[in-house]
Amino acid sequence: MAIWHQEVWTSIEQSVDSPDILALLRLWQSLRPAEGAMPALASFSIDGPLAAFAAQVTVFEPEEDGDYRVYYCGDEVRRDSASDPSGQRVGQTGDALASLQLQHFQAVTSRAQPVYVRHFSRRNPCVLTWERLVMPLRDDDGRVWIVAFNQATEARARLLETVLDGSGEAVLVLRSLRGPRGELQHWLVTVANTAFSRLAGALPGRQVGALAHEAFAGWPSLALDADCRAVVGNRAALQRDLSLTVDQQTLHFALQITPLLDGCVVRLSDVTAARAQEQALRDSARQLQADNEELRQQAWLDGLTGLLNRRALDTILEREVARAQRLGEPLALVMCDIDHFKAFNDFYGHLIGDDCLREVGQVLGSVVQRATDMVARYGGEEFTLVLPNTDLEGGLELVQRIQQSLHDRGLPDATSPNGKLLTLSFGVAQYNPRLDTGAKTFLERADAALYRAKHQGRNRVGAAFSESFEVSQSSLTEA
Ligand code: GH3
Ligand code: MG
Ligand code: MG
Repeated sequence: MAIWHQEVWTSIEQSVDSPDILALLRLWQSLRPAEGAMPALASFSIDGPLAAFAAQVTVFEPEEDGDYRVYYCGDEVRRDSASDPSGQRVGQTGDALASLQLQHFQAVTSRAQPVYVRHFSRRNPCVLTWERLVMPLRDDDGRVWIVAFNQATEARARLLETVLDGSGEAVLVLRSLRGPRGELQHWLVTVANTAFSRLAGALPGRQVGALAHEAFAGWPSLALDADCRAVVGNRAALQRDLSLTVDQQTLHFALQITPLLDGCVVRLSDVTAARAQEQALRDSARQLQADNEELRQQAWLDGLTGLLNRRALDTILEREVARAQRLGEPLALVMCDIDHFKAFNDFYGHLIGDDCLREVGQVLGSVVQRATDMVARYGGEEFTLVLPNTDLEGGLELVQRIQQSLHDRGLPDATSPNGKLLTLSFGVAQYNPRLDTGAKTFLERADAALYRAKHQGRNRVGAAFSESFEVSQSSLTEA
């Protein structure tokens, strides 16, 4: 079985980040009697300078036949490799790892210099990647011994996995496996926490140390390959949203990929609940807006007739008076009041009275034609029409149309003095900047015109001219 490994002979310092390995390398260099020579075994003893590193050190004694025997094996190495090779010959195991080790021992001997090796092994279930500093030493007889400092990288990775399991995120750490020309061939899983394993559909067996596409059934559907390649290639982090269907449920994730050595860290945090909350917030904001709009409308509308109410009329009239003042355009106002409506109510009752108010409202609403014309229920059985860009004559014409429409509708009123039909009295005024200081006085003049129409017998139209009022009787009265 091929073993993935990496050897560093020159400038080891630049490839290593373990302070122990760096310290040992410097120690080895400092104990050399000369450049190109090896330190003496006695100067590098386990009881002496190596004592601080003893737990992670293996010492190999050379055999006559070129093999090596394990002379000493530190506690941590035994624990991490789950075996005690003390006293054993390296060549005895006969596997690929043993021959790789022997190759390194021979190479450091002939070069008289240490090598830093990282290798990956599936032999051992606990440790997958070892970092090693392999150093040659010469004994008094001229034989070359080997001291190896061993660091089990994945033992640390397991610890990290455990910590990451509590992080609430799905975490995956990948390392590139490259071909002979340095091209990225596969992703090797260095760390995969439980959340990631679950999400990616981990296949039976160990994920750490396996190739990503062999470890996770869902690897293709996660579609992370291109992003991971981009991150490793550009050595720049990437962030995006990712949606996945898990158990027929769509989950939303914030995906973050950051470069790490010749690999990357993939983090997926589930934002489904947060998204749902955001959506709910947006929905309720929209609902609130709709409610507000409805409330606003309700505040402006008369509940019985659906016409604008007095409050709306006051606002609109202020605005229209200001506009008429500013632009010098004519503005007409019509006030109308149902005649003898008290008697109508007494005779027919309030419910019929309400129906009658609604019908009058409909008549008024159907007669006004311009989009800018406004009809309001001013209160009780009184209505007001605001007619922008309309003069007194236009207002009077509109009143005639209302009377015609009322007549056509023929709302019965048995209490009416004419004995048949419901009638209205009207007051019409045109805004006059000379007479009207504002909306209030303008309204008062229209009201005064109405009062005159009432006073002169009802079912009449009072017109407020600049200096006087004129009342005319409806031509339809006796129809
Ligand atoms: P006039 O011709 O002088 O206008 O006489 P009127 O009886 O119409 O006037 P008055 O102001 O004396 O009475 C108005 C009546 O309108 C009082 C009330 O019975 C009726 N009224 C006012 N608001 C409503 C309402 O919302 N529903 C109903 N059914 N009747 C209303
Ligand atoms: Mg009234
Ligand atoms: Mg009335």
